Amino acid sequence: MTPLAKLATGKQAVAVASEALECFGGAGYVEDTGLPHLLRDAQVLPIWEGTTNVLALEALRALATDGAAEALAAEVRALAAQATDAALRPPVDVALRAVEHARSFLAAAGPAREAGARGVALTLARALEVLLVAAHAQWCLSSGRGRRALAAARALARRGVDLVDDATGDADALLSE
Ligand SMILES: Cc1cc2nc3c(=O)[nH]c(=O)nc-3n(C[C@H](O)[C@H](O)[C@H](O)COP(=O)(O)OP(=O)(O)OC[C@H]3O[C@@H](n4cnc5c(N)ncnc54)[C@H](O)[C@@H]3O)c2cc1C
Repeated sequence: MTPLAKLATGKQAVAVASEALECFGGAGYVEDTGLPHLLRDAQVLPIWEGTTNVLALEALRALATDGAAEALAAEVRALAAQATDAALRPPVDVALRAVEHARSFLAAAGPAREAGARGVALTLARALEVLLVAAHAQWCLSSGRGRRALAAARALARRGVDLVDDATGDADALLSE
């Protein structure tokens, strides 16, 4: 989970900081507002926490160790089981399908395994994010704390979770010709 969390949040921090600058229009680009510092500092996260490629390879290495894939699958199942409200079914299903796609890609990948590491790791991380938000949304619904987290879970799932590219092997073969 550690490399997955670091690689996904590092990348997302850069995108979020960039949006924050854009909210200020032209001022967001002007150095002495202090705003460009936010973007520059966010950009260090996908570098010094381990670059995305290296963390993706680290995730594959960790998943291949004894019991790790089963532990991750159990975590995924446990989170999915928490989201019992019918309105949470669509995001949970998106996440579960993405995890299954990543699993089947790794099982079949052969030499394309490392080339596809980034897609697999980002997919697992995004799926876990959706499931964590869905579990939180269930808690909010069950304890009278409103539907905002439900809306977030559904929006997150609609914005692209599955980045596994089944054609990775083809591209890899072409590039190595
Ligand atoms: C501000 C700052 C503070 C830091 N503080 C610390 C610290 O306190 N302690 C510490 O130990 N380190 C620290 N670092 C170093 C940091 O951990 C490294 O910069 C980081 O791990 C990336 O390594 P690198 O710079 O050698 O880049 P490289 O590993 O050379 O990476 C260059 C590019 O090659 C890619 N790449 C590398 N290997 C592979 C591969 N096998 N497959 C595919 N792609 C690959 C990377 O993804 C990257 O895009 C700091 C860095 C910064 C910028």
